[in-house]
Amino acid sequence: MIPELTPDLRDLQARAGSFVEQEIYPVEQRIAERGTIDKAEIAELHRKARDAGFSHLNIPVTEGGPGLSMLGQVILEEQAGKATNGLGFIVAERAPIELLELLSPDQVERYARPAFRYERQEAWAVTEPGAGSDVAAIETTAMRDGDEWVLNGEKWFVTGAEKADFLLVLANADGEQTLFLVDIETPGCELARVPAFAHDPYFYQHPEVRLTECRVPDENRVPSGGAEGARKWFTLERLMIAARCCGAADRLIAEARAWSLERVASGRPIAEHQAVQFMFADSLTELVAARLLTYHAAHGFDAGTDPPVLHGKVAMAKLFASEMAGRVADRAVQIFGGRGYMRENAAERHYRELRVDRIWEGTSEIQRLIIARGLLKRGSAPYADA
Ligand SMILES: Cc1cc2nc3c(=O)[nH]c(=O)nc-3n(C[C@H](O)[C@H](O)[C@H](O)COP(=O)(O)OP(=O)(O)OC[C@H]3O[C@@H](n4cnc5c(N)ncnc54)[C@H](O)[C@@H]3O)c2cc1C
Repeated sequence: MIPELTPDLRDLQARAGSFVEQEIYPVEQRIAERGTIDKAEIAELHRKARDAGFSHLNIPVTEGGPGLSMLGQVILEEQAGKATNGLGFIVAERAPIELLELLSPDQVERYARPAFRYERQEAWAVTEPGAGSDVAAIETTAMRDGDEWVLNGEKWFVTGAEKADFLLVLANADGEQTLFLVDIETPGCELARVPAFAHDPYFYQHPEVRLTECRVPDENRVPSGGAEGARKWFTLERLMIAARCCGAADRLIAEARAWSLERVASGRPIAEHQAVQFMFADSLTELVAARLLTYHAAHGFDAGTDPPVLHGKVAMAKLFASEMAGRVADRAVQIFGGRGYMRENAAERHYRELRVDRIWEGTSEIQRLIIARGLLKRGSAPYADA
């Protein structure tokens, strides 16, 4: 079941939607004209979004926050997903509350709470050159030396490492995968390379991080299971990817619709050509289906669904929504014709930017494996029951 959106959630949805349209769309246009991100402009946008009250709404009441439900977070993230260049991350700025479950009380005090207060920022370093989908194959090591751990290895695609104060590094320690809190300034921790990506210019970069004889005190070893911790983070991020994909598709359908009513070809608006109408019909139907899957999985978080089942439901939402958004963006480019291939058009930008949603936080193939394994183990009922 998906509960009816409360008036508060409707209000949040409307406010976030108009912030994205009024404050972010003009910035996107300037980025398209310049081809680069202006850091001062982004800092100002960030300040405005925080002042407007969109940030850190996910902090639980027990930590002094508003404790926005997961359904509420998804509603907000969906609006954020309409923006290109990763600027939506500024609106749906989530605090890393997953750290509350993972870290020791002392670590929560030193890392999580400062992050909630915007004093420190984290980045996750799991993937390696030889281990992406297969997290079990990571080769980074942590060797104990007295009260310290010595880390060696290479981490790739560390989103936001260029802005981060500390990393959550997954390493092999004493025969098990363990997370370590590594301050970015620690000797032996370096940003080795900052590659360019298809979605650039983008709010985040994805540096490669090299750890060479990097010494971390034992109090920075995360006590809870490393791989399990990474899995929890993946589940949450996958749900948010699904939500952003729905927002992107919503914008693309709306903008392509407006254009199709205006553009005349062969003597009538292109919206009157059946071939164009069929593209809209498919896009809207797929968007609604993806949104239902996404809201359903979000509600599962709020309703306390069994975590392994929830993991499968989130995988379904991520798989379907990311593939749906790719198809919708492709059709939107087609409906805009040559204009859809211009950087100044959101369809062009989304067409490039949405591609990564079928890759990061677990590829479409990995989502299919999760869904299939869940089905084979538990049967379809826990997943198919609405
Ligand atoms: C822009 C960007 C940002 C990222 N941010 C982060 C981050 O912040 N932190 C982090 O740790 N990582 C991050 N990642 C890494 C991301 O999660 C991985 O790229 C992703 O999990 C895929 O791993 P891989 O690139 O090594 O591909 P591979 O695992 O090498 O996969 C290559 C292909 O093989 C397929 N494949 C692999 N295994 C199987 C299988 N068992 N069955 C069927 N098919 C399979 C895959 O689906 C894919 O099609 C980021 C990646 C990108 C591109």
